[in-house]
Amino acid sequence: MTTNFYPEQYQKTGQYPINHNYLAEQFSDYPVILEKVAQVVLKGDFTLGEAVNKFESDFAKLNHGKFGIGVGSGTDALFLSLKALGIGEGDEVITTPFTFFATIGAIVTAGATPIFVDAAVDHNIDVTLIEQAITDKTKAIMPVHWAGVPCDMDKINQLAVQYNLKVIADACHGILSQYKNQGIAAVSDVSCFSMHPLKNLNVWGDGGVIVTNDEALAKQLYLIRNHGLSDRDHCQQWSYNSRLDTVQAVIAQHLLDHNIQNITDKRIANANYLDEKLSLISQVELPPREPNNVAVFHLYMGLFERRDELQQYLNKQGIDAKVHYPIPMHLQPAAKNMGYKKGDFPVAENIASNCLSLPVHEFISQQELDYMISTIQQFYSE
Ligand SMILES: *Cc1c(COP(=O)(O)O)cnc(C)c1O
Repeated sequence: MTTNFYPEQYQKTGQYPINHNYLAEQFSDYPVILEKVAQVVLKGDFTLGEAVNKFESDFAKLNHGKFGIGVGSGTDALFLSLKALGIGEGDEVITTPFTFFATIGAIVTAGATPIFVDAAVDHNIDVTLIEQAITDKTKAIMPVHWAGVPCDMDKINQLAVQYNLKVIADACHGILSQYKNQGIAAVSDVSCFSMHPLKNLNVWGDGGVIVTNDEALAKQLYLIRNHGLSDRDHCQQWSYNSRLDTVQAVIAQHLLDHNIQNITDKRIANANYLDEKLSLISQVELPPREPNNVAVFHLYMGLFERRDELQQYLNKQGIDAKVHYPIPMHLQPAAKNMGYKKGDFPVAENIASNCLSLPVHEFISQQELDYMISTIQQFYSE
């Protein structure tokens, strides 16, 4: 029988002394949050309503965007953005093969065709290869700010203007990241965020947010995430139900008000420390760091020689090093009819074969960072 694999996976990650995830610690103030949830119950305000409005607006502001639209998940954020922009059957969307499944799933579910362009050394889409992938069917570019590292948005936006394309960013890793002193949502037509339990700002289930500066597009998104209803009795267009749950908005607001800046600052500090030490190990290849941008390190990812062996070694020493992810999208079973083959995207394939992510969450101690570093040094000196 096919079962949901998540509960098992959470149990497994709980085994390591140095975890990738930290949900119990992160929500150790849950009694305070439950009090806030109780207010939702007392008001009976279970769908949309004030809590969602406030959260949407605060979240958009925080990422330097005008309008926030709360939706059911990061995947829905991507899917609904494509729908709202009228992208579907017969249209092409340029994106990277080195991403999470949802980027591609959203494009295909919307009816459009994903066109892959190889990744670059920063693990994001290689902007120098985008132009040659543009055809008269291309409607949008979907860059992914992988690990919370902003893509080269000047180049992407320049191409978008030149070829009249929309830029729909998969910013699921990118809450609070900045591109040249601008919040990440300021530099795309639409930015899509996830609040899945394993993301930097996480709720108690699924949730997502779309941020845009385009008022007409925002209006369309408010409609289509809620049955196309302009009010209780009038449906402007047949659509879908993907509202951000009010309960989840309350939890997200709590994190926004009290935790997200600290979570982000601590991740960045941990990553900087790892950078400093790991850059001295010749078997480790870290992506270049762009000094004018702020990366938020949803993942701390590098390329490591003998990756699989190193991962096992670290796991044995109690460190939950993970691979995000071992197989690029064009080599997935789901891509078998798309006409791609091994070797088509050598950089993405190289990243997938050698990448390893180390825990950098806000509860990692200095001692644990030093232990991770010395364990990696030890592995390569044996
Ligand atoms: C998590 C994630 C998504 C999907 O978000 P969900 O909220 O889980 O639907 C999309 N793209 C990327 C890059 C992600 O990491």
